[in-house]
Amino acid sequence: MKKAKLTLTSKVLVGMGLGILVGLLINLLGANEEGSFFNIYLVNGLFFIVGKMFVSALTMLVVPLVFFSLVTGVLGIGDIKALGKIGGKSFVLYLLTTAIAIAVAISIAASIGIGEGVNMSSDISFTAKEAPALSTVLINIVPTNIVNAMALGKMLQIIFFSILVGISILMVGKKAKPVVEMIEISNEIMMKMVNIVMAVAPYAVFALLGKAIADLGLSLVMDLAAYVVVLIFVLLTHLFVSLMIILKVFSRMNLSMFLKKMREVQIFAFSTSSSNATIPVTLRTVIDKLGVKNSVASFTVPFGATINMDGTAIMQGVATVFIANAYGVDLGITGYLTVILMSVLASIGTAGVPGVGLIMLSMVFAQVGLPMEGIGLILGVDRLLDMVRTAVNVSGDAVVTVVVAKSENAIDEDVYNDSEAGLSAEENIDIDKSEELALADVVNETHSKS
Ligand code: ASP
Repeated sequence: MKKAKLTLTSKVLVGMGLGILVGLLINLLGANEEGSFFNIYLVNGLFFIVGKMFVSALTMLVVPLVFFSLVTGVLGIGDIKALGKIGGKSFVLYLLTTAIAIAVAISIAASIGIGEGVNMSSDISFTAKEAPALSTVLINIVPTNIVNAMALGKMLQIIFFSILVGISILMVGKKAKPVVEMIEISNEIMMKMVNIVMAVAPYAVFALLGKAIADLGLSLVMDLAAYVVVLIFVLLTHLFVSLMIILKVFSRMNLSMFLKKMREVQIFAFSTSSSNATIPVTLRTVIDKLGVKNSVASFTVPFGATINMDGTAIMQGVATVFIANAYGVDLGITGYLTVILMSVLASIGTAGVPGVGLIMLSMVFAQVGLPMEGIGLILGVDRLLDMVRTAVNVSGDAVVTVVVAKSENAIDEDVYNDSEAGLSAEENIDIDKSEELALADVVNETHSKS
């Protein structure tokens, strides 16, 4: 009998389950004490090294992948007006979903009265970050030096430059054909590289979660149970209710198919706590499995990873109510409206990397005058919550991507509705022997000429 082959997603799921289990065991048995064997060799040894190397490999892919796929995308659209429409629609939808997310978060948290009667002693100090002015955010979209922007992974600047390159190639026309071919093939090569990195994903997810859960202060989580539970509840409500309503109303696509295919992306976001590092996986999923054309996805996915943070906004909403109540501060309607506005604006210029939500929260607190020490109160459980909210952030990116693609007629519904779509391609990391031989001929020929 033929052995049933597990798909990569199933393997990643197993990795996640085992990682959580092993992490919990280490945590509960108290085996992760500083200096202990488990702490040195396993949690901060093997798990840490494997996890870090994997996240680095994913992050390494982001800049070239975004550049090549976005230039290819612009060439695919071939029309500047259509590009503007995609940009406009996704921008409005991203801001809208973030605003809905935080408004719902504040309403639920306030009606529960979360944080009332909490002992607000905290000896952890936190320094506020100044919110950048809107003018600075706008100015910063244009890079002064593209090498620097790429080196620092400045997503909005990279997007700006890539679109400009695409448009300029279109303007040069026929003469640019070799460059077009080079960029399209480079894009294909980068996608293959994603497959290679993803082949080790099950082990890496295991290591990342084993470390994260082993390191988690479970007693802290218990102390702040109300905050943790309410926040996770609102995050899940946003994912399964608000986002699904938006997806259904604006695209009429099948919801369970979307959720099933997004599982892998969510696990990645959960394990890495970084929308940015998840870009390669999100991009591959929306294109190969959800059938979105590269011309839309190559723009909306990196754009969303930077400006769209529904989960982070929800955390800010719940945390604001929690701390305001704990310190007995009445923010009033204007205060909360300011919080909504600030969170939406703060999300525009901030990259989706681990822990950035807390920095944004400090900007919000500085604006409405809440005590910074309040952030110290929730700091201990933020690692765990960062994981959950990042999974919500990337789901929001994919929802908007599908909605925009549907409205632009840039989605292949047969692929979207095919539960097997993209599965075989993702595991194909074998070298094609016939292609390899042909390539060897080309290389030899070039050598003998020179
Ligand atoms: N880690 C989140 C992300 O990458 C941002 C945050 O909430 O800290 O999307």
